[in-house]
Amino acid sequence: MRTFLIETWGCQMNQHDSEHLEGQLRALGLSPAEAASSADLVLLNTCSVREKPVHKIVSRIGELEKLPEPPMIGVCGCVAQQEGEKLLARSSAVAFVLGPGQNGRLAEALRLVEQGRRPVLTGFDARQEYNFEQIFRISSTRGMITVVEGCNEFCTFCVVPYTRGREISRPMEGVLAEARHLVATGLKEVELLGQTINAYRCPETDADFAELLDRVAAVRGLERVRFITSHPRHFSDRLIDVLARHPKVSRYLHLPVQSGSDAVLRRMHRRYSREEYISLVERLRGSVPEVNLSTDIIVGFPGETESDFTRSLELLEQIRFGQVFAFAYSPRPRTPAALYGEQLPAEVVSERLQRLFSLTEQISVELNEAMVGSVVPVLIDGTSRRGESQWQGRGEDNRVINFPRSGAEQLGDIVQVRVDRAGPHSLVGEIVAEDPRHPTRDSRVEHAAS
Ligand code: SAM
Ligand code: SF4
Repeated sequence: MRTFLIETWGCQMNQHDSEHLEGQLRALGLSPAEAASSADLVLLNTCSVREKPVHKIVSRIGELEKLPEPPMIGVCGCVAQQEGEKLLARSSAVAFVLGPGQNGRLAEALRLVEQGRRPVLTGFDARQEYNFEQIFRISSTRGMITVVEGCNEFCTFCVVPYTRGREISRPMEGVLAEARHLVATGLKEVELLGQTINAYRCPETDADFAELLDRVAAVRGLERVRFITSHPRHFSDRLIDVLARHPKVSRYLHLPVQSGSDAVLRRMHRRYSREEYISLVERLRGSVPEVNLSTDIIVGFPGETESDFTRSLELLEQIRFGQVFAFAYSPRPRTPAALYGEQLPAEVVSERLQRLFSLTEQISVELNEAMVGSVVPVLIDGTSRRGESQWQGRGEDNRVINFPRSGAEQLGDIVQVRVDRAGPHSLVGEIVAEDPRHPTRDSRVEHAAS
């Protein structure tokens, strides 16, 4: 076996799992293939939070089986954990199944296949420190670091505690060593990952997430730190204080609210109320006024009435998030909400989603338009989708901005960009020398310190 291809569906955690898988394959001497048709091994790394991922996987396996030279197939990710043995029965082309809790055992799975077995490695053992130097990083500007695995919240709609297991925090020293390693390899930004990252507790020192973030942000040479996802009920004032104090901590926060109705929040088992969420946002904005908030909303949770839904719309109008990720509720195996009565008809859900999308788009445009004329420090993270002559980068608040190349700058540089135009999802601008009348936040901090 000489070549591989990894197909990834899902969130950052899945993408990062694929980076782990790719690192292991490269360490075994395999190299990436251009396409599935030229790969000896194809890994399907899949999410099962929404959609109908099992159907998707089965149809993808069918396509791969029909190739003139079918590759060996390994199914990884949340679907692997959820379906286990059943995946072997679905197709003889599936050589092995590897759940997210067993991601580090890819070499062992391949060895077992060589011995003529079809291993199913699932479940969750006590977490082992892994070789982070082996991870193959897809981005050359930003590196992801797992901080917390799994989740203990058991929201009634969510499959994550079953597919990714219980919450396990990684020792702080391991996280810091990985951050230093990423900086040493030239990366400018780290993104700390966890389903409820702010529930972090160092198993060795009992440090909380505020302390960890404080320490990571102090790593020499690191320009930016982001983290995802924060659970509203674990957001402490200590954490707000670190955000306010540290110019390197991203001004972007993903803070899923899920619903604006207390009745729905209770049935979701979110364990905060609408008022508590609003008060958290007020405290955050009181300390970090420029923070750009995004959120997740589920539309059509079982029993959601028109007035519950209106409460969600009102909350969105009141808080004015920079970005809203809205999902139609989808019943998930083993979750309590899948058994609730009053599942909503698809037409009702899609009509509500449409109303929600038009409101959130209008708000995003207004917030982005308010940026026009300002000069923002932008970390260049790739070529723009608009073409080779333009860069794409992100401001400190994670807003995407496209701008023409000026010639001197490179990938990974931080440049000052004046915002000229705004759309619902991105900004357009131009590189400028820093204008002293519009100092960026970094330079304001430096001036204040000097
Ligand atoms: N841990 C994060 C939190 O609690 O905020 C969210 C992680 S989950 C992988 C990402 C988002 O998927 C959730 O915030 C929720 O909006 C959505 N989601 C999860 N289960 C869902 C379901 N059964 N149907 C629709 N959306 C769902
Ligand atoms: Fe799922 Fe809730 Fe855990 Fe988020 S906090 S991963 S929504 S169970």
